[in-house]
Amino acid sequence: MPHYPDTLLFIDGRWAPAADDRFIDVLNPATEQVIGRVAHAGQPELAAAAAAAERGFAVWSRMSVFDRYTIMRRAATLLRERAEAIAPIMTMEQGKPVAEARTELLAAADTIDWLAEEGRRAYGRLVPARATGVTQAVIRTPVGPVAAFSPWNFPVNQVVRKVGAALATGCSIIVKAAEETPASPAALIRAFADAGVPPGVIGLLYGTPSEISETLIAHPAIRKVTFTGSTAVGKMLAALAGTHMKRATMELGGHGPAIISADADIDQAADTLAAAKFRNAGQVCVSPTRFLVERPAFGRFVERFAAQAQARKVGDGLRPDTTMGPLANVRRVEAMETLIGDATARGAEIVTGGQRVGNAGYFFAPTVLTNLTADMRIMNEEPFGPVALMSPFDTLDQAVAEANRLPYGLAAYAFTGSGRTAARLRDEIRAGMLTVNHLGLALPEVPFGGIGDSGYGSEGGTEALEAYLDTRFFTMREY
Ligand code: NAD
Repeated sequence: MPHYPDTLLFIDGRWAPAADDRFIDVLNPATEQVIGRVAHAGQPELAAAAAAAERGFAVWSRMSVFDRYTIMRRAATLLRERAEAIAPIMTMEQGKPVAEARTELLAAADTIDWLAEEGRRAYGRLVPARATGVTQAVIRTPVGPVAAFSPWNFPVNQVVRKVGAALATGCSIIVKAAEETPASPAALIRAFADAGVPPGVIGLLYGTPSEISETLIAHPAIRKVTFTGSTAVGKMLAALAGTHMKRATMELGGHGPAIISADADIDQAADTLAAAKFRNAGQVCVSPTRFLVERPAFGRFVERFAAQAQARKVGDGLRPDTTMGPLANVRRVEAMETLIGDATARGAEIVTGGQRVGNAGYFFAPTVLTNLTADMRIMNEEPFGPVALMSPFDTLDQAVAEANRLPYGLAAYAFTGSGRTAARLRDEIRAGMLTVNHLGLALPEVPFGGIGDSGYGSEGGTEALEAYLDTRFFTMREY
C-alpha cells in the first residue's frame, strides 16, 4: 500500500495546521478505512489567507507576463515528473484507477502549459478614434484575488483549470478544494510553489465549505469567485457573489443527452459512449446520461453497451486490472440506490447492474436501465454515477425535445452518419458543448462550460482567461 500523506493548509507560502489543531479524517472509498487527515481551517486561517492573497496579488500582478509564464512552465514540468508518485495518492482518496489518475495529472500539466502560453497572448486592442490625435485603448488587467471552490471528482483537474487561468492572467487565488480528496490538490500546489510562485499567490484551504465560502466571498480582498459542483450549491454561491458584486464562474451539474441515429456506426457509438459513461465511475459533470437511440438501432445499441458495462472490472483502483473504481463517497452509493429504486418502482427495467458490489467499499455495478419515463427522478436529477438511461425515439424532433427537456445544458453527444442531422443538432440542442461521432470535450484549448442550470463562464479556451480579466478603457488626446 503506498504511503498516504496528511494534508496541511498552505497560507502565505507555508504549510501549517490550523491554530486550534483541528483535522478531518480522510477515507479510502475502496476500503472505507481512514487513511489520513486534513487540517481544518478556522476564521484566523481564512483571514490570514485573504490578507496573504492581497499581498500575493500585488507581487504577481506586477511581475512580467514572461516571468509568470516561465514559473508556470516549470510547475508543469515538476507535475509531469511527479505524476507517477501522485497518481496512487489520488486513487487512495478518490477511488479512480491509477491509470485514470495518471492521465488526469498529465492532462493537468498540459493545461498549465496551455494557459501559461495563452497568458502571453491576453492582448488588449486599439480602437480607431473619431478625432485626430486621439488614442483609444482597450486594456486587460487581472481581476484581483480569486476564491475558488473545487469538488472531489477530478481533485487535480478541477483545481488546475482555476489556478492555471488565475496565474496566467496575474491574479492570486485561494483554493478550497474538497475535504474528501485533499492530498492530490496539495501535491499540485506544491509543484507551483517549488517552481517559484511567490508566497501569497496561491493559498490552499480545507474546512467547513459553507463557512469558507461565506467568509471569502464576502471578504473585500476577494474580487472573483469560481465554483465547480452541484447546481444547488452553485446557485447559493452565485447569489452570494451577486450580493457582494463579485464576478463569478459557475461550472455546475448536467444530465447529458446522447442521441444515436440509426445511420450511425452503432457498435462504435456504443463502445465510445460506454467509455465516456464509466470513466471515473460516472462521476463526471459531462457524463452522457440519457441515451436516446433511434428505434431500429435500439436493441443492438443496448445489447452492445450492456456488454461493455459487464466487461468493466470493478475493484480497488490500486489494482492494475481494475477499469472502474468505487464511487468516491457513501453519498453517491445512497443516491444510486435511491434513484434506481424510484425508477424500478415506476416501471424501469434493469438490463445490467443496479446494485452495490461486495460488502466493503463504495463499489457499484455499471448499470443500464430501459423502459424509462419522464416522471422518474433519475430522468430529472443528475445521477453522478455509473448509470446509463436508454430510451428509443422515432423522430429527430422527439429526440431533440427530450434532450432539451431539462433545465441543464452542459455536454451533449450525438452519433450520426448524416451531416444534415448533425447540423440540426448543432443548431437545436441547448447545451454548452456538443460532440458528434467522437469524444472531443475538455481539452485545454477549447471552451468548457454550460448554459442554463449548468452555470456560466468557461474553463477552457481563450474564454478561460477572459473570466480572470477586467476590461478597461484608456483614451488620450495629444496636445
Ligand atoms: P455538494 O454540492 O454538497 O458538493 C459539491 C462540492 O461543493 C464539494 O466539493 C463541496 O465541498 C462543495 N460545497 C458544498 N457546499 C458548499 C458551500 N456552501 N460553499 C462552498 N463549497 C461547497 O455535493 P456532493 O455530495 O459533494 O456531490 C454531489 C453532487 O455534486 C453531484 O450529484 C453533482 O451534481 C455535483 N458535483 C458536480 C461536479 C462537477 O464537476 N460539476 C463535481 C462534483 C459534484
